[in-house]
Amino acid sequence: MSYFLGYCLLAILGLLLGSFYNVVGLRVPANKSIIAPRSSCPCCGHMLTSMELIPIFSYLFQKGKCKKCNMPISPLYPIMELLTSLLFTISPVLIGWTAELLVALTFISLFIILFITDLTYMIIPDKVLLFFFCFFIIEHLFIPFVSWSDSLIGAIVGFGLLLSIAYLSKGGMGGGDIKLFALLGFVLGWKLVLLTLFLASLLGATAGGIGLLAGYINRKKPIPFAPFIMTGALAAYFFGDEMIRWYLQISFNI
Ligand SMILES: [Zn+2]
Repeated sequence: MSYFLGYCLLAILGLLLGSFYNVVGLRVPANKSIIAPRSSCPCCGHMLTSMELIPIFSYLFQKGKCKKCNMPISPLYPIMELLTSLLFTISPVLIGWTAELLVALTFISLFIILFITDLTYMIIPDKVLLFFFCFFIIEHLFIPFVSWSDSLIGAIVGFGLLLSIAYLSKGGMGGGDIKLFALLGFVLGWKLVLLTLFLASLLGATAGGIGLLAGYINRKKPIPFAPFIMTGALAAYFFGDEMIRWYLQISFNI
């Protein structure tokens, strides 16, 4: 029963924070305050009332349109709220009700915010990375989710690897990606940051290939890579050790 309550609380927290992360993701890259003013319709400027700010439900009740001008609201908002809630709720199933849950929730929060900034602006903001880096360092002091040496090596490996790729591909990787990988290495350790790069490339290549074939994207237009990086990172965070064990088992029978 107490666990049931815990899951409910995580689901609600996910919806509320997801809604806040939409604001963070849309405002931080534009250098706007995340506290004031209250959100408004980008089309008619109508300031949203409390009833219009309820995650998911406001979108459903208003049938995805602004109450005043009927302009369609981007489905990205409710999708991100729902995704945050869903990921928050399944975290304890995957890692248990331990202190590390806090690290998992932080990681999911970073995932959601970068998803939004990269999809909307093609930017991985320094401010967001720096904030989360500080947050992870503080968590690391209290929760031993990975050893300090592994964290440091992971950060160096992540940074160095992406820097080399950026150099070799002559600008195919942005500075934001390089810094992001240093952060991911710090949180995941060196093995899982390598796995993240592998998974992100696989996801990016698959989605890019499908997009090209279906005519959604063209070769000249760059596609946001952070959603693939963060999906790979999240998969590595939750399932990485099993994936590596499974890979070694089928490859070398160890
Ligand atoms: Zn409007």
